[in-house]
Amino acid sequence: MKKIAVFTSGGDSPGMNACVRAVVRTAIFKELEVYGIYRGYEGMIDGEIKRMQSHSVSNIVQRGGTVLKSARSMEFMTPEGRKKAFDNLSAFGIQGLVAIGGDGTFRGAKVFFEEYGIPTIGCPGTIDNDLYGTDYTIGFDTAVNTALEAIDKIRDTAAAHDRIFFIEVMGRDAGFIAVESGIGGGAEFVMVPETQTDLEEVVKSLKNLRKSKSSSIIVVAEGDDAGNAQTIMEKVKTKLNDPSKDFKVTTLGHIQRGGNPTARDRVLASRCGMAAVEGLIAGHQFHMAGVVNQEVVFTTFADCIGKTKALIEDHLKLMKILSI
Ligand code: ATP
Repeated sequence: MKKIAVFTSGGDSPGMNACVRAVVRTAIFKELEVYGIYRGYEGMIDGEIKRMQSHSVSNIVQRGGTVLKSARSMEFMTPEGRKKAFDNLSAFGIQGLVAIGGDGTFRGAKVFFEEYGIPTIGCPGTIDNDLYGTDYTIGFDTAVNTALEAIDKIRDTAAAHDRIFFIEVMGRDAGFIAVESGIGGGAEFVMVPETQTDLEEVVKSLKNLRKSKSSSIIVVAEGDDAGNAQTIMEKVKTKLNDPSKDFKVTTLGHIQRGGNPTARDRVLASRCGMAAVEGLIAGHQFHMAGVVNQEVVFTTFADCIGKTKALIEDHLKLMKILSI
């Protein structure tokens, strides 16, 4: 293998730049030519492909977002779009790919590999932490810390006014961000898609709030089965029917995607980036490079997207015990 290319795709996550940097520098270290594809699959189709040098990735390890830009591509979902992408890669002589993104990105990579056979290694770049085959995804730790900082601030005002706050965090169909920011932020309740939300239980507990604890923080994962933070708040307010209680809703939104990556995310991203290039050289073809129990592991795209990563049991237990 002589020429490889790297791209970032889907939702951006803090640490993607550190990963791109590791891919580029490992490739150069291993005497490969390395190219950057801009705007994910969209740029692959449009031929936005540029040679990368070591200095191309200087001064980016600390930055959020992605210098390669990211995009969602409808055209790549079609065989015609993927053919254009293949023709562009062929014109540059690219023999291997590193795809940094989430499950959608790996779905695309799997289809593309099955059609054209270009070996592709994935790096788990998503704040949602919803990928099987790695304990943590790149960007998750930063997103949790951003959510936590916001929760701490909201708690100050909640306590000052004895308010009940419903705080919606990201995570798509997974509750990892909600659970970790909820435990770290001392939430009274955490609502996640993985477990059924019992609003009666929430109401009962709010009724019994200790006198000294009249404010409450309830963290809601965006994919919760009971609805979004606003609709859940309205349902709880109606059921509680206590005009003395003051309810507020805050949706944290895209601040969770931004910001400088934490040390943990930078190190994880760098490890995955290095492993991806080494994996391509070693002959892996359709795998994600992740870190499980401190070790780099390669998991097939089929398993990464087909298997569900469960929430940590102890975390669920903690949420119950610590809220009393
Ligand atoms: P995040 O989890 O942060 O949103 P993601 O990688 O899951 O990131 P998606 O938008 O779901 O983001 O996927 C990225 C891109 O992958 C899509 O815009 C599309 O171009 C491509 N893709 C997804 N699924 C397929 C598929 N089945 N076939 C071909 N391409 C796909």
